Amino acid sequence: MANESFEDAIAGLSKLLREKADLGSVAAAKIKQITAELEAAGSKGFDPVERMKAGFVHFRTEKYEKNPELYGALAKGQKPKFMVFACSDSRVCPSHILDFQPGEAFMIRNIANMVPPYDQKKYSGVGAAIEYAVLHLKVENIVVIGHSCCGGIKGLMSISDDKPASSDFIENWVKICSAAKSKVTANSGSLSFEEQCHNCEKEAVNVSLGNLLTYPFVREAVVNDALSLKGAHYNFVKGTFELWDLDFTISPSVSI
Ligand SMILES: [Zn+2]
Repeated sequence: MANESFEDAIAGLSKLLREKADLGSVAAAKIKQITAELEAAGSKGFDPVERMKAGFVHFRTEKYEKNPELYGALAKGQKPKFMVFACSDSRVCPSHILDFQPGEAFMIRNIANMVPPYDQKKYSGVGAAIEYAVLHLKVENIVVIGHSCCGGIKGLMSISDDKPASSDFIENWVKICSAAKSKVTANSGSLSFEEQCHNCEKEAVNVSLGNLLTYPFVREAVVNDALSLKGAHYNFVKGTFELWDLDFTISPSVSI
């Protein structure tokens, strides 16, 4: 129904009215109403404040007020089992694609879902989040989720080594996963650029998993079996999700 074209809908209505002429006046009234609504919506344009207000009211009435037990418990504290790295891309929100409920996943989202190596000066924001998740929340899993058509990975694959940086932050940031680019170009140079980017989306996840081990508290928790590191790739073109354990070859253990 959602994919039905405007023409199909009009044709369906015309057919119905030909067969049941007595519905004509009801249809006319409804069409007038729809026209007025569309005109009003069109003249108003997009109102960001109204959009957020409506979104919060929906959340409060449909979720918050209907789950007093959950939100009551969350008011006292959080005990998430997951820490998730995901891309800032608006299409890949982990709460949506993995149905994480509030309190389930401690999250970092950044360009191309990258975990930089331990560096107290350059990457203190990410380091602080990992330290808090591992040492204080004691999450049991860290999952790095790459995704299809990632602009950050495309950017990494497009960087030319002989040209100066053309961005203030982006190029330096995505270079965190330069090792993934090198591996992909060495192993799959004959593939199309799109295919290489696709492979790099997964290899970059593996580089990030390796970088996680540069944090002493992560290493210690992994060695003590208190923490597991997982890589994942969400393909929103095909609607699939792959998940694999820390490994430097791509060998999906679960494919959905
Ligand atoms: Zn992305």
